[in-house]
Amino acid sequence: DEFVRVSDLVKIYGDTVAVKSVDLSVQRNELFALLGSSGCGKSTLLRMLAGFEAVTSGRIYLDGEDITDLPPYRRPVNMMFQSYALFPHMTVEANVAFGLKQEGIPKNEIHERVFEALDLVQMAGFSRRKPQQLSGGQQQRVALARSLIKRPKLLLLDEPMSALDKQIRQKTQIELVKILEQVGVTCIIVTHDQEEAMTMANRLAVMTEGQIVQCGTPHDVYAFP
Ligand code: ADP
Ligand code: ADP
Repeated sequence: DEFVRVSDLVKIYGDTVAVKSVDLSVQRNELFALLGSSGCGKSTLLRMLAGFEAVTSGRIYLDGEDITDLPPYRRPVNMMFQSYALFPHMTVEANVAFGLKQEGIPKNEIHERVFEALDLVQMAGFSRRKPQQLSGGQQQRVALARSLIKRPKLLLLDEPMSALDKQIRQKTQIELVKILEQVGVTCIIVTHDQEEAMTMANRLAVMTEGQIVQCGTPHDVYAFP
């Protein structure tokens, strides 16, 4: 079951080939990591999946639909940003509701879905707080609720741990995986941290200079015979 299929994807900026003929398959409900060092093309690939960046060539299919030429708001894809991008002047509840308000969904349904999403990430008790009154891990869970509330078919997580202190990262990785598995959502997690990829993903691809050089389960990729 190829839920996400990326076929011969290329992105060229001037004379920089940022992504060089990438083929990728991700299965439904898989937690898939895209691992590689800075400058290898991970963000560019993620931005093409989200629709923030046009492809130079190649196609992107999601659940059987060719989404390559759809604008971001028409794609059933959501991105959780590296620094979470919560609105500082808005409460947790308003932050999570924001995405649905744009879609013109009725107030009572928004309220219901906001609390459903906040319950899921165990933040329902914090609905009236502002982001700066929360810990980093709590802010991350609010950002996750804001992404999940739109019920995307594909969730993109860009360096989800990089805004957090080192000491809490591993615990947070495990908690995040629990939530994502409970929801049952297909995820692509971009990271430069091998341990993070191995903890969070059931499959991963290693990228170097715009190409995928290895792909498989953490065991396949890191078991050296
Ligand atoms: P990563 O996310 O793995 O750090 P990027 O996707 O950000 O890598 O970058 C891949 C390559 O493409 C790098 O050489 C980077 O400098 C280049 N690049 C990324 N975005 C742009 C852009 N908007 N214009 C020109 N070059 C870019
Ligand atoms: P990330 O930390 O997510 O990899 P970067 O720091 O590589 O992001 O890039 C941040 C922004 O700068 C992106 O929007 C990217 O398109 C742009 N960018 C990256 N490299 C270049 C470049 N060489 N020339 C122009 N823009 C770039």
